[in-house]
Amino acid sequence: MKKILYIDLDNTLVNVQSGIDRLTNAEYIRYEKRLDEVPGIFARMEPISGAIDAFHTLAQSFDTYILSMAPWANASAWQHKLEWVQEHLGADVGGPAYKRLILSHHKHLNRGDFLVDDGSAIGADRFEGELIKFLTPLFPDWNTVTRYLLERAQTAPHPEQRPRSLHRPALRGGAALSH
Ligand SMILES: [Mg+2]
Repeated sequence: MKKILYIDLDNTLVNVQSGIDRLTNAEYIRYEKRLDEVPGIFARMEPISGAIDAFHTLAQSFDTYILSMAPWANASAWQHKLEWVQEHLGADVGGPAYKRLILSHHKHLNRGDFLVDDGSAIGADRFEGELIKFLTPLFPDWNTVTRYLLERAQTAPHPEQRPRSLHRPALRGGAALSH
C-alpha cells in the first residue's frame, strides 16, 4: 500500500503573490489586510515553480491528496480552488488529482504519513504524520521536497513477505532438530 501524502495549496503548490500582483488598485485598497477575501483572487494565481511536475511525480509513488483551507469569508475561493486544481493538475477521471481536493480548517483530522505545507496553522502543526515545512532552509523548493519524499516512499515489507530465514526461530542445543 502506498503511503498517504497531503500537499497544501497556498504558497506550496500555488504562488499566492502572483494573484496579488494581478489585483486592481481598487481591489487592493478595498481589501487591504484581507486580500484572501478578494472575489476571484484564487483564480488568478500561478503555480509555484516546479510544483506541477513534483505533484505528478509524487502521485506515482504516494497516495496523494491536496489539503488546503479556503477562507470562510470568501465563498468564491472554494470554487476557484477546485477550478485551480482542475486546470493545473488535471480534471480527468482517474487522473492524479481526480476527487483528491480536501478543503478543511482542521488539517490534523486527516490521517496520513506526510504533509507538505508552508504553514503550521489550522492543524498542520498537530498533523499525526511528518510535517514537511515548505519554503524553509531544509525544504526551500520542490526539487528538495521530491527527493526527500521519494527516498521515503517505500513502506516496510509485510512480515509474511520477508525472507523466511529472517523469522525462523533460533535452534537451541539441536533439540528442535528432532521434530
Ligand atoms: Mg499554505
